[in-house]
Amino acid sequence: MFRQKRVGAVLVCAVLLLAVFFSSVWMAHETEHHCTGEDCPVCQAIAMSGSFLRLVAAAILSFVFLLGLLNAKRPGFASRIFDIPVLGTLVSWKIRLND
Ligand SMILES: [Zn+2]
Repeated sequence: MFRQKRVGAVLVCAVLLLAVFFSSVWMAHETEHHCTGEDCPVCQAIAMSGSFLRLVAAAILSFVFLLGLLNAKRPGFASRIFDIPVLGTLVSWKIRLND
């Protein structure tokens, strides 16, 4: 179950990264297209790609902000979600430094 969720999350991230990458490449490629003026379909597609990239950036920033808030409320929250090993401190390891 956990492995299926992880595979699903990796697939969603890969699709999102590919969409962002190809949108950026396509926008860079079509910025100097032969524009037909008003109602140009390429300009409309460039505008839609720009909105998509702004939406993805806003979603990522919101997620990071929310994760930061939750991690501030409960230290170690982000490390538990992402399976990041928490590096301890001397105090958390209960190591006493004698003179
Ligand atoms: Zn155009």
